[in-house]
Amino acid sequence: MQIQPEAGGAARTGVRRSTRLAVSLPIRVYATDYKGTDFVEDSTTVVVNYYGARIRLNHRLLPEQEIRIRSLKTSQEAVFRVVGRVGSLDDRFAYWGVECLTPSPEVWGISFPPLGPEDQRSVRALLRCPICRAQEVIHLDEPLLESIQELGGLLRGCVKCGQTGIWEPVPYS
Ligand SMILES: [Zn+2]
Repeated sequence: MQIQPEAGGAARTGVRRSTRLAVSLPIRVYATDYKGTDFVEDSTTVVVNYYGARIRLNHRLLPEQEIRIRSLKTSQEAVFRVVGRVGSLDDRFAYWGVECLTPSPEVWGISFPPLGPEDQRSVRALLRCPICRAQEVIHLDEPLLESIQELGGLLRGCVKCGQTGIWEPVPYS
């Protein structure tokens, strides 16, 4: 029996196969919405891994449908299967888990760090102190990830400058 993977690269066994990174990459989505209307929407990823992504989208999709995503950073396109909607239902934006039908390192243009023990249940983010610009890789669980999505950053204290502020994700270059 083949194990079908879920969004985020987790097989149904619950074991993740790839590091998840909280990275906002520009994308263009070509798809059909739940009413059957074709659309093109420019948006961003919220989390990416080798096998897929969590994306932000205003249009509503249907689980199991196939959509085409173009990375505006690498100009690579690939077909993804919609796994489902993730996060709370009354968000300003909806988030969707998608899985690539033909995973390859070229799609996102990112080399994923090796999977560590914390990566099984958390997402890695590179955040920056708003005051002294110190950078730190932080492991985020789901509630912290949601607060980053909603606030645009994470309220935390800095050991370097001693100040508390909203740490923002460092744009992926
Ligand atoms: Zn600081």
